[in-house]
Amino acid sequence: MKSWNRLTASMRTRLLISYLAVCVAGIAVLFITVRLTAPSFFDHHVAGMGAMFGPGGNMMSEQGINLDNAVTRSLNEGFLVAILIALPLGIIASFFVAGEIARPLKRLASASQRIAQGQYDQRVPVGAPGELGELAASFNAMASALEQTEQRRMDLIGDVAHELRTPVTVLGGYIEGLADGVFAPSPETWGKLKEETSRLSRLVEDLQELSRAEAGQLTFALASVPPEAAINAAVARLAAELLPEGLALQTEVPSDLPPVQADPDRLDQVLTNLLTNAVRYTPPPGTVTLSARRQGEKVAFSVRDTGIGIASSDLPNIFERFYRADRSRSRSSGGSGVGLTIAKALAEAMGGSLSASSEGSGKGSTFTLLLPAAR
Ligand code: ADP
Repeated sequence: MKSWNRLTASMRTRLLISYLAVCVAGIAVLFITVRLTAPSFFDHHVAGMGAMFGPGGNMMSEQGINLDNAVTRSLNEGFLVAILIALPLGIIASFFVAGEIARPLKRLASASQRIAQGQYDQRVPVGAPGELGELAASFNAMASALEQTEQRRMDLIGDVAHELRTPVTVLGGYIEGLADGVFAPSPETWGKLKEETSRLSRLVEDLQELSRAEAGQLTFALASVPPEAAINAAVARLAAELLPEGLALQTEVPSDLPPVQADPDRLDQVLTNLLTNAVRYTPPPGTVTLSARRQGEKVAFSVRDTGIGIASSDLPNIFERFYRADRSRSRSSGGSGVGLTIAKALAEAMGGSLSASSEGSGKGSTFTLLLPAAR
């Protein structure tokens, strides 16, 4: 009973049974209809040929009854032969058709089981066009999206572990040194400990922000923002912090610029991030220029510096999280390594874009934020 249930649960068997049922129903309808109607049609036609049976053409004569029986028997025999040929042919055809439909579904089922076990590289052949082909194509699209998500998750874990290692090791070293009396519990030591813990919390905050931005969970209060106001606010914030001696900060904003459509706080965050980087990567003496200009239906904000520049081989990668052009540089410069990744995600979420250009190492860099003009 159990194996019968298992057999009838299979798609292929079900399709086979349903085709056979249709086949048997067709034969039964044909048989009954012909058996019910053929004799009376026959009588009718023979009556029409009454003249052939002599005067009166009596259909109920003995020859007439014999003829009737012969026709009925011939019909029955003909049907038997037809059933004997049609049924095996029907079974063979149903078997192949059912197999053709059930096979791709079986492949999909086993591929999904393997994906559920973590083998994200599984794909199924798309095959012929039609519903099954569409199903296979959507399945493959879903599988590659899952594979990419999994890859991003693995990369993120690896990157975060790598970034946490340095501050955690430094903290551990200081605490051990304090315990062993190697370091005196001086304000300088406490200062170092505080510096490392703030670096850790900055990294955690940035990672949270990045994960929210990548998941599209950040909320934006879009408003009409005058470019000049945004630039002045960002410059004021940076000037309030320590601008290294020998580094000039200047702005270039034409007075006839249209306002941009942006979230003022997020715009400020992006500009501040670009300015902080420009200052960080421009050893004095040098200049950092923040400007804005009209570009079609958009406004381009540019942060240009005369600093260390970016090699063309690094340019395409600097928006990746934790990418550093100078691999040997430690995080001592204060960046969490995801600033540009977040800035780009914010720019795109506001309907804009963020790009970088540089003539090469030592030749300065320009970061351009494009935002749509407010309507
Ligand atoms: P972080 O500055 O913390 O490393 P970011 O995401 O802000 O992280 O920047 C990524 C990388 O891009 C930096 O490590 C640096 O190599 C490069 N970069 C960013 N801004 C500049 C700039 N103004 N000049 C030169 N290189 C830059």
